[in-house]
Amino acid sequence: VILATGGNGQLFIPTTNALICTGDGIAMAYRAGAPLMDMEMVQYHPTTLAGLGLLITEGARGEGAHLYNAEGERFMEKYAPNKMELASRDVVSRAEQTEIDEGRGFPNGTVALDITVVGRKRIHEALREIVNVGRDFAGTDITREPIHIKPGNHYAMGGIKTDINGQTEVPGLYAAGECACVSVHGGNRLGANSLLDTLIFGRRAGQHAAEQGRGVSMPTPAGSELARERDAISDIVSRDRSGRRLSEIRAELGATMDGKVAVFRDEDRLREALEKVKQLQEEVKTVAVDDRGSVFNQDVLGVLELQFMLDNAECIVMGAIERKESRGAQYRTDYPERNDADWLKHITLTANGDIPEVGFSEVTMTQWEPEERTY
Ligand SMILES: Cc1cc2nc3c(=O)[nH]c(=O)nc-3n(C[C@H](O)[C@H](O)[C@H](O)COP(=O)(O)OP(=O)(O)OC[C@H]3O[C@@H](n4cnc5c(N)ncnc54)[C@H](O)[C@@H]3O)c2cc1C
Repeated sequence: VILATGGNGQLFIPTTNALICTGDGIAMAYRAGAPLMDMEMVQYHPTTLAGLGLLITEGARGEGAHLYNAEGERFMEKYAPNKMELASRDVVSRAEQTEIDEGRGFPNGTVALDITVVGRKRIHEALREIVNVGRDFAGTDITREPIHIKPGNHYAMGGIKTDINGQTEVPGLYAAGECACVSVHGGNRLGANSLLDTLIFGRRAGQHAAEQGRGVSMPTPAGSELARERDAISDIVSRDRSGRRLSEIRAELGATMDGKVAVFRDEDRLREALEKVKQLQEEVKTVAVDDRGSVFNQDVLGVLELQFMLDNAECIVMGAIERKESRGAQYRTDYPERNDADWLKHITLTANGDIPEVGFSEVTMTQWEPEERTY
């Protein structure tokens, strides 16, 4: 079996990710006993449309767009004077969030991306897609005026721990794509590098699985397993409607993750997030469903996805609490320094009753030793 179910961005509101990114495969592998790795490494993209989370491509800054706060200051001068707007995603996201948190953002909690400096002709040539996004979703003509943006959830560096052939620690179970964690991105994926997950490691996983599968007959799932799944679904369909609404729980999860497990993290807020996730895990057991049908029941799908999302959330928060340092996408205000002596290692999370079991795994170092980033 090869899992290729994508990331888990829907845990956060807003996110650039599609509605299908509910971390299903990550949770399925976890429940099957496969360790997850680097779950705390969640990438926030610096330029997402306020409110909706739609991505304003990095290409805009690549073409020369500037970032301004509400005081008209090109604030990246303070944070990355050499790279300015082209500093890495985590650095720009933190800079924006600092401006917003310290009161120099716009009233809707944003900063401004000024693409007009690129020039109208070039914008239409190179950035047509965001001309349309600006017009249709923000009512902004980006060729004439700045657009309001903020950091938003974008990509999961963590996922199902695999080797370079996509194999997990569960025999016969593979993972590839964003749901997997081969760890080529470390704690901080660079733009466009998802191609590695999908094309390179997707191909390797497929080839290896095909090779291993040769001569192995199709296994028959255990009857007891199927019965357990069937019972769980009929329990969802037949329960009474006294529980909380699914949409409410999802909204609360999204706000918690975005509010406490995003660009800046600290012990207190992470502990609050963990408590909230635990509470929502209890509430999802009685969540109300309206549809009693047995064909294409979207309500049941919603409950199953929410359960997957909560497993993902628990592992992300546990990993973030465990890692008492700042590295890559994880920035702990209570541990602001990178600490290679204690933390140059992966955190793994394995299902173990009520709470995930935390473990560690060595970092594979090849040609390049990690160095501190300076700008
Ligand atoms: C707006 C945006 C722009 C991006 N731009 C870039 C870029 O320019 N360059 C780059 O390298 N990366 C980019 N990325 C990241 C990249 O797109 C993703 O990492 C990549 O698409 C993930 O591919 P995947 O095949 O692993 O998962 P996906 O493309 O998400 O596909 C997962 C599939 O699994 C299916 N699925 C999910 N759950 C289940 C289930 N329970 N049962 C059955 N099927 C299921 C889904 O329906 C979907 O078809 C971008 C991401 C976003 C959101």
